[in-house]
Amino acid sequence: MQFKLDQLNFDNRFIQELSGDKITGHTPRRQVEDACYSLVTPTPVSHPQLVAYAKEVAELFDLSAEDCLHDYFTQVFSGNQQVKGMESYAMCYGGHQFGHWAGQLGDGRAINLGEVVNQKGQRWALQLKGAGLTPYSRTADGLAVLRSSVREFLCSEAMFHLGVPTTRALSLITTGEQVIRDMFYDGNPRAELGAVVCRVAPSFVRFGSFEIHSARQDIELLRQLVDYTIRTDFPHLGEPSTEVYQTWFHEVCAKTAEMIVHWQRVGFVHGVMNTDNMSILGLTIDYGPYGWVDNYDPDWTPNTTDREYRRYRFGHQPQIAAWNLTQLANAIYPLIEQVEPLQEGLNIYSQAFIVGYQEMMAEKLGLQVYDAQTDKALIDDLVKVLVLVETDMTIFYRLLADISTETELSDADLLIQLSAAYYQPEQLTELIKADIIAWLRRYIARVQQDKSDDMYRKQAMNAVNPKYVLRNYLAQLAIDKAEQGDHSMVQELLEVLRHPYDEQPEHQAWAEKRPDWARTKAGCSMLSCSS
Ligand code: AMP
Ligand code: MG
Repeated sequence: MQFKLDQLNFDNRFIQELSGDKITGHTPRRQVEDACYSLVTPTPVSHPQLVAYAKEVAELFDLSAEDCLHDYFTQVFSGNQQVKGMESYAMCYGGHQFGHWAGQLGDGRAINLGEVVNQKGQRWALQLKGAGLTPYSRTADGLAVLRSSVREFLCSEAMFHLGVPTTRALSLITTGEQVIRDMFYDGNPRAELGAVVCRVAPSFVRFGSFEIHSARQDIELLRQLVDYTIRTDFPHLGEPSTEVYQTWFHEVCAKTAEMIVHWQRVGFVHGVMNTDNMSILGLTIDYGPYGWVDNYDPDWTPNTTDREYRRYRFGHQPQIAAWNLTQLANAIYPLIEQVEPLQEGLNIYSQAFIVGYQEMMAEKLGLQVYDAQTDKALIDDLVKVLVLVETDMTIFYRLLADISTETELSDADLLIQLSAAYYQPEQLTELIKADIIAWLRRYIARVQQDKSDDMYRKQAMNAVNPKYVLRNYLAQLAIDKAEQGDHSMVQELLEVLRHPYDEQPEHQAWAEKRPDWARTKAGCSMLSCSS
């Protein structure tokens, strides 16, 4: 039988064009100098089993359902078998973790299988996460467990369908291996199921990929990687030169701003915005202890490691992205040797974020354009109203879209419309109710100023305010089942999240607010980095 997988057109430009580690194979974990990558193969696994695959990602490679359900697919994307043209490698990168330079990090458990050029001429890198040791594994095992792999697989695809720039996920496969994890770092390790996700992106290069060479003062290698990135992923900028380095940085800043605006729009909290987790393409990358805000709370962080300082809290993501871009600016400074163009890039970020945020908020509210005169205060005050009592962010905007601005509603009727968004309605005091109603009245007046009809406004709002997001507790329910060998909820969630803006009455239960039992349950309200 001829396998489609054997016909993939690998060009493997990353290793063709960049300097590699002289040492190959499964050598001990170590510092890898003078190189952007190390050649290494995935560690074979005993009983790989396909849990789910994403058909839209398979289509990028012209793979049919039949191709994906064949055992050959499972063997290849668990790392057991290499197909013709694959040349596997782990990338070298460094990064700032929680604000401190951490030195070499690198793909400690991700192994790239190479880059495929598809029928449309697009280049896609394939990468297995959890495929075994590499020279960058440091003190860890190179593996991933099912729970974190379910979370990465589902969230990548959920984000894509929400219209958020992201890396993709082709497949989720359990390995049959046991992986030991101390989930709460409390001295209670247990064996968990191992899994491998095949991630897909045009490039997996991160801010930290540049920082490492700069930190080592290896300017030639830094230049090599920047030139490669510009030629491969930013070809419209032209041949690399000092000027092009500047415009490239400006574009990275603009793309990063765009990504963060989307995160704030949908209520996504990355949880570990270290510079090694910042994609040079402005894609959401490395889904670890991320979370979705249930009740709107700018101070919320899903990551238990971040609980004390809340560096990566929801409302702080825009500032952290700027901080990370500053680290990237420092890293590429030796190629530009002028501060102003780099500062200009950071200004571009701030401006793009501010304008993007205002436009995004106007869209969430169904306003035709953002009008600074009225809308700055309207948005600032909305944010205050949303935290008066726990208010589900996702549900709130869907209900707001339903509020009539064409017929006169009483105060009581207005509030009833929003009631499904409140976690503790008994906390709605008369004072709070009055604040909410006052804001709603201003909102209605503002919409009336636009003269847009309610039907049209609702459609526009529902196209940017999702009905379905990967609520933390939903992911956890799917994980609990998957750990018992029942993969149905992973597949069902994937299906529902393919159409996050549509009403799907048969799945209404998954659009409801977080149930009470999930408020403090691990995995539902907070997550550790253990994965
Ligand atoms: P993260 O914070 O998950 O992005 O990971 C930071 C660094 O730790 C990266 O270099 C990862 O490759 C590495 N890492 C995380 N988990 C493991 C693991 N189980 N085995 C090897 N390396 C790991
Ligand atoms: Mg990472």
